[in-house]
Amino acid sequence: MLKKMALLVCLLPLFSCIKANSSHKTDAGDAPQKTGVETQKAPVTEANEILLKAERVLQKAGIPADIAKTIVEAARSGHPFIDDLNAALKGDPYLRFLVDKQHPLPHGYEPDDLVPLVQGKSYRIGRNDLRLRGFAEASLEEMAKAAKADGVTLLASSSYRSYDYQTTVYNRNVREMGKEAADRESAPPGCSQHQTGLALDFGSIDDTFAETKAGKWLPAHASGFGWSLSFPNGYESVTGYRWESWHYRYVGVPLAHFIDSYFNGIQQYALQFLHEWEQDRATPVDA
Ligand SMILES: [Zn+2]
Repeated sequence: MLKKMALLVCLLPLFSCIKANSSHKTDAGDAPQKTGVETQKAPVTEANEILLKAERVLQKAGIPADIAKTIVEAARSGHPFIDDLNAALKGDPYLRFLVDKQHPLPHGYEPDDLVPLVQGKSYRIGRNDLRLRGFAEASLEEMAKAAKADGVTLLASSSYRSYDYQTTVYNRNVREMGKEAADRESAPPGCSQHQTGLALDFGSIDDTFAETKAGKWLPAHASGFGWSLSFPNGYESVTGYRWESWHYRYVGVPLAHFIDSYFNGIQQYALQFLHEWEQDRATPVDA
């Protein structure tokens, strides 16, 4: 309790400051805003603590103002944000593991539950050596079955890549297109979502995929099965990669819902937020 009180006292200035800022944007006719004094008297509720932490983490994670505003408002109202956040933080940690050019996977990481993608399922395979983690493959099959019912075939073209294989892919791209172009669409070894065993490239693995039936079906339905488009159009400066309409990552249904509900469907923002959320440890002032 002492820790909680100390934490609240230490963070109140930030909270009050954000409250004050938000009141500037309020129309004159709105109900009067709570004053800083009233805020300080507020009980230390779970929603309050979540709000304080959300504000801190949004800033650290560099989340854009419009998205941050939505989240602060959602956190302020408590549930269902808290439930959605808790659900997104559950399950296998690699579902939400931030893997990008600045955040490599643990050295030598290799999932121990990879299963082969095989013929005779609802999805089709483009080659015989494809593998995904078991639960991701099961979800792919479920999603492909639903796509099939809509007259759409999902073709799996590239899946798990080991560190060594990613080295080969990356070096080949650098050789063929130069480092600058290679960096826009392939990850350096250790930094690829494919090494998690949760990422999948569909169809032709090029821009023509977006115009196919599968390329149109996936953006509308994938998140309902826990799959999320990793590198959306117009976000190269955020994700580090040009638009890849064919590259999806299995994040699980709760996290896919969290990405859609609070981050405009931008996986990278949600993963950065959750990464900072899990890193955030308030300094114990009375230790
Ligand atoms: Zn890919």
